[in-house]
Amino acid sequence: MSTFEEWRNALTRLTGPRQPTARLRKDLVTLLSAETADAGQAIREAAYAIKAEHCGAVVHLRGLIEISNLCVKDCFYCGIRRSNRSVVRYDMPREDVLAAADFADAHGYGSICIQSGERADVRFVRGIESLVREITQRTNRRLGITLSCGEQKRDTYVRWFEAGAHRYLLRIETSNEKLYRFLHPADHGHASRLRCLDLLRATGYQVGTGVMVGVPSQTLEHLADDLLFFVDRDVDMIGMGPYVVQQKTPLGAMSRNSVADQELRLRLSLRMIALARILMRDVNIVAATAMQVLHPQGRELALLAGANIVMPVITSAEYRKDYALYDGKPCVDETAEQCGNCLDARVASIGESIEYGAWGDSPHALKRRSA
Ligand code: SAH
Repeated sequence: MSTFEEWRNALTRLTGPRQPTARLRKDLVTLLSAETADAGQAIREAAYAIKAEHCGAVVHLRGLIEISNLCVKDCFYCGIRRSNRSVVRYDMPREDVLAAADFADAHGYGSICIQSGERADVRFVRGIESLVREITQRTNRRLGITLSCGEQKRDTYVRWFEAGAHRYLLRIETSNEKLYRFLHPADHGHASRLRCLDLLRATGYQVGTGVMVGVPSQTLEHLADDLLFFVDRDVDMIGMGPYVVQQKTPLGAMSRNSVADQELRLRLSLRMIALARILMRDVNIVAATAMQVLHPQGRELALLAGANIVMPVITSAEYRKDYALYDGKPCVDETAEQCGNCLDARVASIGESIEYGAWGDSPHALKRRSA
């Protein structure tokens, strides 16, 4: 744990001119390890001021459509991993996905995010391509389209981009190769994930990445390196959230007793958001739904710590419960309509407002485009 002097000095340096990497890493660890309420508040306030300056007190939405839980991957922590036989698998019919997109459009959400388990078969690739094309056309490009469909070939990323998707979210999960290996089977390569992030950038997408916070064996140094990774990659969007146990996974089964307690995972997740905001300034940062598993106001707390994007689930009710990446997923019994109303109230409760009808690209990405 760091002392008052240590974290104060670290925060002053972090909000000032850019420090050499070794210094920065030390300071990030100091700030991650500061446990007092004072420290939490000072870091949050510094992050919020930066968010207010670059993004305003404005939230942008991404209507999240979880189009399928079919997955060829077998990540040790994830509920929809291939080997989990207790999952009822689904692949949303095209009309249902289009209906969800129409809902987002009609309610002025401005953007959607199409997410799924990972597949690379031709049917899947063509299916996404045609969905993106259709949504782009029928909404006359009113909806920004983010994809979050895992690792793909260059050609696939290009096809989806040309069809009209312009943002892609691919979490690195952890920037530490050894920890990555601990969390995944041997054939899931950290290097291929990095290559995909390169391909996405080269294709022209606004690129988002992120990590899970509080996985077993993760250290504060790992988290500091994750933040430096975001800076190094100069990402446009960050989506990170707490690790939440899923009992029917290998990591869930082994980590029942070793996972950091809920309060610590919440605190570290909020701290990561705040530090990412201070470091990256004008990127988009998601207040992840998983935050709400740890605290009833988890997403509002994330907004107050520097996040500026919320992803209301607009997947139709019949599929929601089957897209169970982790246990205790909130809002599984709610309709998209209910989620929308609830969000308005939540955002207003912290004195912010939702900007409807706008794509809400990060200022960071817009600057890159005009550079
Ligand atoms: N298949 C896609 C996206 C779907 S998974 C891909 O690979 O990018 C979306 C995210 O859910 C993952 O990146 C992971 O960070 C998160 N996730 C999976 N299991 C989780 C768990 N148990 N707790 C918290 N987040 C989890």
